[in-house]
Formats: sequence, structure tokens, C-alpha cells
Amino acid sequence: MLNIDLHCHSTISDGLLTPVQLVERAALRGVETLALTDHDDIAGLAEARQTAAAKNITFINGVEISVSWRGRTLHIVGLDIDPEYTPLIEGLTAIRAGRSQRAANIAAELEKIGIHGSLEGAYAHVGERRLIGRTHFARFLVEQGYAKDVKSVFKKYLVKGKPGYTPHEWAALSDAVSWICGSGGCAIIAHPGRYDLGKNVLNDLLDEFCTLGGSAIEVVTSSHTPEQVRHFAQHAQNKNLMASCGSDFHGPGESFHDLGQLPEFPQGCTPIWHHWKNTMAAELV
Ligand code: AMP
Ligand code: MN
Ligand code: MN
Ligand code: MN
Repeated sequence: MLNIDLHCHSTISDGLLTPVQLVERAALRGVETLALTDHDDIAGLAEARQTAAAKNITFINGVEISVSWRGRTLHIVGLDIDPEYTPLIEGLTAIRAGRSQRAANIAAELEKIGIHGSLEGAYAHVGERRLIGRTHFARFLVEQGYAKDVKSVFKKYLVKGKPGYTPHEWAALSDAVSWICGSGGCAIIAHPGRYDLGKNVLNDLLDEFCTLGGSAIEVVTSSHTPEQVRHFAQHAQNKNLMASCGSDFHGPGESFHDLGQLPEFPQGCTPIWHHWKNTMAAELV
């Protein structure tokens, strides 16, 4: 089985390593096929692709798009996308535009409970100011001693019902899928275990996603328990969706799994890379 990692982040969004450092780390860990999937941004792809070529890694252009669906936030990964596709570029530009006001709103919420200076504090942790997000606030809160690590921050702050949360409207599911598919890529529901969807809501989401032209479910991801891997593998098979895998690596010490260090891919699922047989390099077949 090839070492394939189809989900990770660089300093272009909320990762800790630059695209070059990320690909170098993947190479050291034996990754053979890698996709960079920064949140709502594709600015790191060219640099990452170049480094991957030098390291003999098959590189897949990726992105992770923030979506609002029935009042929840979902993440849709796009793989094998065309970064020159205008509707995709314009769509991502539009979603990113809301992030600076949202950051100001988050800071105002934190201010209410006496946490001062979080806006400047969060910006001190960004790579690209336009991608300011909750992870940057989380790193600021850790630095200030409000939590021991980034993961713990999200138990006490920045999520619904906790200080520092502000609702936000991202892309529509139909738009995100159409930007991805229109560019020639595959749309994948990222880490479905993190949305806490009931049985019926999950079923509705999968049906709608299939109708829109979605390709796969991210069955193997850092935050899934072995039971969730089996559960979503079954859903993928039931709905005739393919399955994807990725570490969702954000940086050393911040993620459950390092690049390319993923639990086993479940039997019975069709891997997303089979779909690339005709379009991708022969080594993927
Ligand atoms: P944003 O796009 O600004 O809403 O930030 C979302 C990011 O916050 C995710 O991609 C994760 O990197 C991080 N995040 C959200 N929830 C958690 C969590 N429970 N543990 C660790 N990181 C989280
Ligand atoms: Mn993230
Ligand atoms: Mn995500
Ligand atoms: Mn991610």
C-alpha cells in the first residue's frame, strides 16, 4: 500500500510549516502521494508542487473549503483541482473576505470575559493575514496561559456556547462542490465525525452531496476513532461514494497524527485515488 496523505495545512492557512517545510517533512516520513489542502486558499500549491517534484512525491492540488449547511460549519476538501479555474479563485476570495471582520468579532467576544489584546495576539501567529482563523486565536490563548494546548482551547473557547464564539456564514455547499467539480477536481466531505450529525441529518447530507456531484467521504482522518472509521466506511459504501484519507496535519506537536502516519485504510472502500487512474501519473494506479 502506498503512503498517501491527502489532507494537511501550511502557513498559508493555519499550519505551522511553510509549504516547502511541509513537503520536506512529508518526504522524511515516507509520504509518496501528498495533497496540500489549506483552508479557503490555494496560494501554497505552486511552491509545494515544486518541492514535491524535487523529492519524488506525487503532488495533488488541494483545498479545504469552509461551508455553511443547515446552520452548521462543514469542511469540504477539493482534490486534483485546477488552481487556475476562475470561479474557484473568485469563490475562495469571497469566503476569505469575511475572515477579518469575523476575527474582530471573536476578539470582541473574548474582550467581554476580560481577555484583552487577542486580535493583535492572534495576528502575531498568522502566516498570511487574510487567513486569520480560530487556530491563530487558539495559539494566542495557549501563549497567554488560558489553556495547555490548542486542542484544549477548543473545549473552553471559540466554539458554540463558549466565550469567543461568533456565528459566521461561509460558502454554500452547492457552490463549494461546483467550484471544485467545475475545476475538474473531486469533492470530499472532510472529517465527518467532527460534525456530530444525527443519523437522519447525516443521511440528508450524504444524499444532497451525492446529488451535487460529490465524490467521497474522508473516512480515515486523525480525529476519527477506529469505530468512526468503520462507521463512515460503511456509509461510503452504502452511498456509492469513494473514501479518502489524510492526517489533517497542522504542525509538530499539534496533531494526533504526523504526515503520512495514518491508521489503516478500511477494506471494501474504493480509494479516491483509483478515480485518478486515467488522469494521474502511472504510479498511482
Ligand atoms: P476556522 O476556519 O477559523 O473556523 O478554524 C477552524 C480550525 O480550527 C480547524 O481547521 C482546526 O485547525 C481548528 N479546530 C477547530 N476545532 C478544533 C478542535 N476541537 N481541536 C483542535 N483544533 C480545532
Ligand atoms: Mn485548521
Ligand atoms: Mn477541517
Ligand atoms: Mn483540515
